[in-house]
Amino acid sequence: MSTIAEIFGTMVFDDKEMKARLPEDIYNSIQNTIKNGKHLDLAVANVVAKAMMEWAIEKGATHYTHWFQPMTGITAEKHDSFISPKENGVIMDFRGKELVRGEPDASSFPSGGLRATFEARGYTAWDPTSYAFIKDETLCIPTAFCSYGGEALDKKTPLLRSMEVLGKATMKILKLFGNESVTSVRTTVGAEQEYFLIDKEMFNKRPDLVYTGRTLFGARPPKGQELDDHYFGSIKSRVLAYMKELDRELWKLGVLAKTEHNEAAPAQHELAPVFTTTNLATDHNQITMELMQKIAKKHGLVCVLHEKPFAGVSGSGKHNNWSLSTNTGVNLLEPGETPYENAQFLLFLSAVIKAVDDYQDALRISVASAGNDHRLGAAEAPPAIVSIFLGDELAAILDAIENGEKYASKEKENMRVGVHILPKFPKDTTDRNRTSPFAFTGNKFEFRMVGASASIADTNTVINTAVTQVLNEFYEILSNAEDFTSALHNLVRDTIKAHKRILFNGNGYDKSWTEEAKKRGLSNLETTPEAIPHLLDEKNIKLFVDNKVFSEKELRARCEILLESYSKLINIEALTAVDMSNQMIMPAVSKYTKELSKTIEMKKALGIDAEYEIEVARKLSTLNSSAYKKTKELEIDIARVKALTGAEKVAKEYANSVLVKMADLRALVDEMESITAKEYWPVPTYGDLLFSV
Ligand code: ADP
Ligand code: MG
Repeated sequence: MSTIAEIFGTMVFDDKEMKARLPEDIYNSIQNTIKNGKHLDLAVANVVAKAMMEWAIEKGATHYTHWFQPMTGITAEKHDSFISPKENGVIMDFRGKELVRGEPDASSFPSGGLRATFEARGYTAWDPTSYAFIKDETLCIPTAFCSYGGEALDKKTPLLRSMEVLGKATMKILKLFGNESVTSVRTTVGAEQEYFLIDKEMFNKRPDLVYTGRTLFGARPPKGQELDDHYFGSIKSRVLAYMKELDRELWKLGVLAKTEHNEAAPAQHELAPVFTTTNLATDHNQITMELMQKIAKKHGLVCVLHEKPFAGVSGSGKHNNWSLSTNTGVNLLEPGETPYENAQFLLFLSAVIKAVDDYQDALRISVASAGNDHRLGAAEAPPAIVSIFLGDELAAILDAIENGEKYASKEKENMRVGVHILPKFPKDTTDRNRTSPFAFTGNKFEFRMVGASASIADTNTVINTAVTQVLNEFYEILSNAEDFTSALHNLVRDTIKAHKRILFNGNGYDKSWTEEAKKRGLSNLETTPEAIPHLLDEKNIKLFVDNKVFSEKELRARCEILLESYSKLINIEALTAVDMSNQMIMPAVSKYTKELSKTIEMKKALGIDAEYEIEVARKLSTLNSSAYKKTKELEIDIARVKALTGAEKVAKEYANSVLVKMADLRALVDEMESITAKEYWPVPTYGDLLFSV
């Protein structure tokens, strides 16, 4: 077996490959495009394309594809082979124009009305800041996906825009601090990914898992996660073999897979990569999710990325660790060594606090999905309320600044930004609050509301844009100030004062927090249909339009797509529930009741007591009749809601009516499951699914 160093990035056309394979002038011009966003000449693209193709063919590739991230949230690709006809055969051919631009027949990707049907084809454009890579013998070229009018039809374009404006806003602030050596600033992200592994045979026996990725029925097993014996427990050999192969395949693609461990729930695991530039981290997370699912199949497993596959068991999320980094290698969210660095740190910290408070609704919306609705607010995940955890030490420092008081560990003097060195606080403070949705963890913020199956592009687009907005506001104030140091001090103090309500160091899972948050005026958008329309609140439109991350048209289109996909999803779930009830569950219960009734008859003939059979048969018959009525009710409701118009109205009806009926039906079914003989139950149980791998 080759070493990690030997395989790492072997399937990526990275800087090393470019340097080795491209003439120097071509290499320099492509670097200029990557680093400074300079326009790429077709002549240069032709040379790059040829080198890329030769490299790919050496690695066994036969096809290429523009790889993009449409608004469905998963990645899309359309494969073309390199072959081109030539008299008496074929040659391998790949041109610059095919590298930089593609026209996928993309009329079936959601566009929210952005593409009129007469111009149904969007186009893809190479994003040279992400390296091309080989997957499934196909050269994948990361691209952005746009309409002919230039509107973004994907998740990547807005993300790139948001990174660019944030970089610019941050540079302006750094210049105020006299920092002239930094030439670019990027946001960095490390996305920790949670997932479940389920035995493939069991999985395939459950239509709900197959069609919707989550169980729509299922009585609780006697053992759940209460013993906490799975978390960080020893990894079973079958899972270990899977993780090993996953790591190796990810490494080949340059994904910095670093830590693998068991998670809180049985059958739940996590993979954490080393952080990298946000757009790369986004690509890498998409690749990770794809490989997780593909490799699981080879091991007789299914990787489930749904946010809440099992009721009553921890769901899966993604922790989006976010920071800002300069090209000189300085993490701007790392408390510094000198008073000036610290003042700068406090300014960026306050900017994030203000941004999260001002745009808490936009952040919540960025993680809204049908799946995540089951997770946010459930016992093991942060509620749908956004708040920030800073840790005791940093909170005390901000308190001291706010009140112009002495800070405990400092002698006598009042806390003044730009004068004092922050006391060193341990990065991994023991009081780390696992319940906080937005936690400062020493040198970065960790946003924990993101769903396991979501693309991290949306969330980072919002964080980046909100912070950009605030930094620009800060710049206006500071650049016009006569005395920079006192203006800075006042700005930090006033910002903390004004946005204190978003800071919460307590238990975010506690019911009393919901009440408290309401008193503080924090937004609590509980469901996706309730949350999404707020994306079009004037304040949010202004944020994205002013910072040139979305046009209003794009934003409206996105809203519509999000609501429509929510409705489609619930519709599929509801239809699956009806089918399972009609075709599997009710017939199974009926069959078992028949068996019981036969036994009762025989026992009676023999004069034997049949209390158990009678009671259970009676109870099951009653429950099955109720289930039958509920199923019919649900069927009628699905048809009613489907016939309604207006994306928001339809989505809200799915949430408030269809989902409620599904839950009612589930309660009946789960009760029947708990008293039906296991051999009669038509699908694997929670126990089978969660404890068999
Ligand atoms: P944990 O949260 O499990 O204690 P770490 O603090 O080491 O683990 O990091 C969690 C994740 O945060 C990892 O993916 C890591 O790469 C990422 N991370 C660390 N530093 C940064 C940073 N400056 N910017 C973005 N992500 C970071
Ligand atoms: Mg974490």
